[in-house]
Amino acid sequence: TSFETSGLRPHLLENVKKSGYTKPTAIQKYAIPVILSGRDLMSCAQTGSGKTAAFMLPIIHNLLSDKNPPNTENNCAQPVVVIMSPTRELAIQIADQGKKFAYNSTVKVAVIYGGTSTNHQRGRILGGCHILVATPGRLKDFVNRGNVSFNSLKYFVLDEADRMLDMGFLGDVEEMLSHQSMPATGERQTLMFSATFPEEVQQLAGKFLLNYIFIAV
Ligand code: AMP
Repeated sequence: TSFETSGLRPHLLENVKKSGYTKPTAIQKYAIPVILSGRDLMSCAQTGSGKTAAFMLPIIHNLLSDKNPPNTENNCAQPVVVIMSPTRELAIQIADQGKKFAYNSTVKVAVIYGGTSTNHQRGRILGGCHILVATPGRLKDFVNRGNVSFNSLKYFVLDEADRMLDMGFLGDVEEMLSHQSMPATGERQTLMFSATFPEEVQQLAGKFLLNYIFIAV
């Protein structure tokens, strides 16, 4: 297997090559076709497995066909993709990989996280972003202030669901997935990644994923 046979757009393959990736990891090999097919996904994957590219590549592939500029209305950013990550470090890493893959394209990636002033981040996301990577508290804050909504959302990604649970963030995740602006399952694609599957994570998947494919690597 190679990235070339994955059906990903040539521009994306070029950026993958520039990142130094020569062949897909196991999770990439199995998850990319499932995500391209439009199915919801629950995947068992550790940090280091290449899970970030496994969801970033097919999502960016789809965004490249879209060509719509990012939506911002009344000081409210409406990202097409929201990726929730438990820590600031992970969120920044995910956004950096996204920016690499989206390099020289119309796709815009932004990241928001706590522990720093909201003003700069607000300015950045209101400037327009298709892909928003966020930690739970900061996302909730921006959503509650009306600076982010899910009205244009097509993809919701939950990274490291088990760590979200351990850190006490699962309530925030549920709140975002239950927000009035959040499209229903079936009208969005939902992808969840977790290293382990405690009861709470299984319940979350049961509640917010639709007919999902399960992949363990
Ligand atoms: P992740 O599991 O997404 O945090 O990725 C772990 C590390 O592996 C990151 O530094 C990636 O840049 C790298 N990586 C992901 N996919 C590949 C690949 N197909 N070939 C080489 N390195 C990769």
